[in-house]
Amino acid sequence: MAATLLDVRDLYVEFRTRDGVVKAVNGVSYAVEAGETLAVLGESGSGKSVTAQAVMGILDTPPGRIANGRILFQGEDLLTLPAEARRRVRGARMAMIFQDALSSLNPVLSVGYQLAEMFHVHRGASRKEATARAVELMERVRIPAAKARVNDYPHQFSGGMRQRIMIAMALALEPDLIIADEPTTALDVTVQAQVMDLLAELQREYRMGLILITHDLGVVADVADKIAVMYAGRIVETAPVHELYKRPAHPYTRGLLDSIPRLDHKGHELYAIKGLPPNLLRIPPGCPFHPRCPQARDVCVRDEPPLYEVTEADGTPVPGRTSGCHFWKETMHG
Ligand code: SF4
Repeated sequence: MAATLLDVRDLYVEFRTRDGVVKAVNGVSYAVEAGETLAVLGESGSGKSVTAQAVMGILDTPPGRIANGRILFQGEDLLTLPAEARRRVRGARMAMIFQDALSSLNPVLSVGYQLAEMFHVHRGASRKEATARAVELMERVRIPAAKARVNDYPHQFSGGMRQRIMIAMALALEPDLIIADEPTTALDVTVQAQVMDLLAELQREYRMGLILITHDLGVVADVADKIAVMYAGRIVETAPVHELYKRPAHPYTRGLLDSIPRLDHKGHELYAIKGLPPNLLRIPPGCPFHPRCPQARDVCVRDEPPLYEVTEADGTPVPGRTSGCHFWKETMHG
């Protein structure tokens, strides 16, 4: 049987700062299969991007440090690979799309040159062949008049078009896994939907694994297969995507869902989870969500909940569902 595409196990990442140790990722485990999309959801500072940086091997070390865990990619532990082997994995077998295309692309080189460089350097294509491949890729991500625009510079494209170029760069070497970190956050809603649709279409076509990092539950419903919700550097809920929308099993997820604006709630005040995410220098004891949780009780202040396997009301296990709440049954089944 083929190995799981990406299998992150019990990952801990911390940052040493002058004020103390920031515990950014605390025992995260998740897996992604080929052709599957995992959405990792959480507020900023929840550890979702730091986990992705650890997977990509682009953590700033120091001050960052992987304190524990394994990152198995197609069965091989990336954390034990020498730097040069790790570099070869990045780009060719896994690639990343960032939020801000303008600062990720080189402003003084044309987009065609930057795309062609990938084929020239990594695949040994001649300049002419590489440029032809660059145009093909630009057409593939639906840049209008790609041939005429291949020599244009990043600032000559709109935000949505630049993000398409970022997707083209990530796809260039046909990686097995793409990590997209808030790929549409800087775009307006219509363009967001177009870019997400394109990403989902290409992911299906190339049968890649996709990790979609977002703080916005609204953008993942139609794209992801499953979701992992993060809070204070931990996964607090996992579920197949439609299950999570129908029956959240953690009060934090419920709060995130209730915070999505709805057309049928016109005139109602928009719900917001009270309080702020915790300071990762001083994570609250017990359940880290307890200071903000409307359902918190004494035990929540004392005992940190494990990630429980979630079941139906009759005890039948629900595949892929877990919750890090002592009272998940109440939240899910009422
Ligand atoms: Fe809320 Fe307690 Fe559940 Fe934490 S364990 S989410 S504080 S009810």
